[in-house]
Amino acid sequence: MNTIITQADLEFDQKHIWHPYASLTNPLKVYPVTKANGVYLHLQDGREIVDGMASWWCIQHGYNNPRLNAAAIDQINSVSHVMFGGIAHKPSIELCKKLVQMLPDPLDCVVLADSGSISIDVGMKMALQYYNAIGKTSKNTFLTIEKGFHGDAFGALSICDPKNSMHTLYGGFVPQNLFSKAPEVYFHNDDPNVEQLVEELDVAPFAKLLRENHESLAGVVMESIVQGAGGLRIYHPHFLKRVRQLCTEYDILLILDEVATGLGRTGKLFAFEHADIIPDIVCLGKALTGGYMTLSATISTRKVSEGICHGPAGRLMHGQTFMGNPLACAVANENMAILMEGKWEQQVSRIEKQLFEELAPLEKHPNVSEVRILGAIGIVEVNRFPVKVEELQKRFIEAGAWIRPFNKWIYIYPIFTTTAAELRVLIKAIASVLDDL
Ligand SMILES: *Cc1c(COP(=O)(O)O)cnc(C)c1O
Repeated sequence: MNTIITQADLEFDQKHIWHPYASLTNPLKVYPVTKANGVYLHLQDGREIVDGMASWWCIQHGYNNPRLNAAAIDQINSVSHVMFGGIAHKPSIELCKKLVQMLPDPLDCVVLADSGSISIDVGMKMALQYYNAIGKTSKNTFLTIEKGFHGDAFGALSICDPKNSMHTLYGGFVPQNLFSKAPEVYFHNDDPNVEQLVEELDVAPFAKLLRENHESLAGVVMESIVQGAGGLRIYHPHFLKRVRQLCTEYDILLILDEVATGLGRTGKLFAFEHADIIPDIVCLGKALTGGYMTLSATISTRKVSEGICHGPAGRLMHGQTFMGNPLACAVANENMAILMEGKWEQQVSRIEKQLFEELAPLEKHPNVSEVRILGAIGIVEVNRFPVKVEELQKRFIEAGAWIRPFNKWIYIYPIFTTTAAELRVLIKAIASVLDDL
């Protein structure tokens, strides 16, 4: 296929194709990309820029990765897709073996689906079906925290921050769930009495809401440790630890959204390890295929899965056309193999160290309110916002970086294989715009 994008192509794009959260009548500029290799995006005009977004937090081991390419090509040459109803295939079995091995013991039943949003919907359905099956039918709503993001399907949307995701646009169609305020205490708070602080500021209001409503709650759903697109916040692990205890005490399932944090991004394989807890259900997506194609997994404990099967339906009422797609599973399986070799751990900790040394000092800039860092995540929250996305993006590209800020956040999620010099390009690009917000 001819990959050159002409002016006429771009006009077609702007007139006919919706981009994420964009307007068709007043579209933002789009940049033609013709190739991507390692951590670099190749723009059609010849510039090669360091991707600081990991393509929305998906790419782990680089674009055009020879091992992932080979896994995809091998699979295409045997079977790209086959229905999952009544059929078993090796890529899904090998992938799920690895997932079960990587996750703590009780989490060992896997539902494969197409996207992060759907993995959340599946987790919510599992909780509803579980309580229906064991006869606790009043447990049919969810508790979450504000400033969360869980995706754009209606189930997932119903637990996204109601203001950010504009629930009001949907005229009452969005299911009503409960929201507690977002935890305030930062992950790296070094107050010697930090746990007491978390108890007072974060646990107390959450626990009150949970105690008052536990009879109607099937699940608590939240992102582990890092709240992504809903607020780019990093909360203290003691909060998650206490949420786990409260869920156990009041018989509510804990569903953790690790779509963005899972598989190494925060410096642990799963972010819930920072709190030393195990959820009842965990959702993975984004980086599962190393950023190659869309795939997600919802993994539950055997207790939850068997509970569902003992209920009136006798099975999980979920199944999709592309469930367990062999091509996506084969690439994900190879990506898990790369992860299990363990290099990610040094890569992420090296990135984190450099972020502390070179990004953290930007906090002194008068236009910056806070810099937050965990693993391969660096967030600069600015106090002049909303930022001018199009203008900033142009300047970042001139500085050799692909960074897409929004609202009050200029943030980077570097690809794990980013070198120190390449990371410096990203950090310098951010530093270079702060005077002009
Ligand atoms: C991106 C994201 C989702 C949704 O995933 P999609 O693949 O976009 O549907 C859910 N939860 C979190 C935390 C995410 O970052």
